[in-house]
Amino acid sequence: MVTRSTNPKSRSPSPRSRRAGAIEHWNKESSTPCCVLQLGDVIDGYNAQYRASEKALERVMTTFQTLKVPVHHTWGNHEFYNFSRDYLTHSKLNSKFLQDQIAHHPETVPSENYYAYHFVPFPKFRFILLDAYDMSVLGVDQSSPKYQQCLKMLKEHNPNAELNSPQGLSEPQFVQFNGGFSQEQLNWLNEVLTFSDKNQEKVVIVSHLPIFPEALNSVCLAWNYRDALAVIWSHKCVVCFFAGHTHDGGYSEDPFGVHHVNLEGVIETAPSSQAFGTVHVYPDRMVLRGEGRVPDRIMNYKKENAFPR
Ligand SMILES: [Zn+2]
Repeated sequence: MVTRSTNPKSRSPSPRSRRAGAIEHWNKESSTPCCVLQLGDVIDGYNAQYRASEKALERVMTTFQTLKVPVHHTWGNHEFYNFSRDYLTHSKLNSKFLQDQIAHHPETVPSENYYAYHFVPFPKFRFILLDAYDMSVLGVDQSSPKYQQCLKMLKEHNPNAELNSPQGLSEPQFVQFNGGFSQEQLNWLNEVLTFSDKNQEKVVIVSHLPIFPEALNSVCLAWNYRDALAVIWSHKCVVCFFAGHTHDGGYSEDPFGVHHVNLEGVIETAPSSQAFGTVHVYPDRMVLRGEGRVPDRIMNYKKENAFPR
């Protein structure tokens, strides 16, 4: 399993070359990765003002096409600076067709109201991709009730004229460049985790926005990160939570033994460096082998969670 893109040892400064380098690396791995997780902000928001959004996306997707394994895409704020949610739903950044279904458990089927799904790359190991901009003012039609609801929620927590500013906020994550999870999505997450618990699976969650405060500066957290943590902590199956968004990266293990890893972003990676990693999954731990700015990490599962040998 692999995470996020970027720069190889080549000295090319372009993000496209960085991605190509990561892909070359993964294509050459002796044991082929089962999939790639793309953690969002894959194209820069600045493309929008130059009317270069579609061209930028096309370049990125062309590079991904050379990968020999499936790519799971999350959507970040930079995607929404370039495209509407409706556009993304019909674009190549929608990887929901890669989802798995759990037979006879309709409650584990995600709704079309948010972009989230789950998949099983190998037995007893489930990945859940969450939509951290399910509740957001980004990418939503401003005439829709959902936009009005989200704007109201944002303004209730953020009285600043500039809604991207966390200045003076007691909950600094309530800024426009973040978003949150609807109750509908959290209920769905709860159902999938209930199934995974019963089925003795391990679960890795993937989201553009992080949810654990000690992993980083709280200005980057999902609006209602506490609600997401409450769901996860009420189950024993979750072992790891991967997020993007922070650009500088971060890591911490929460009190319930869930590893929260925020991957370093390509956007603020020097041209001479790189920022991607490969995760190796073992019966009792996951090992992240980082490249460039991404450090190596060993993530042991909670003892009761290790697979019997
Ligand atoms: Zn972001």
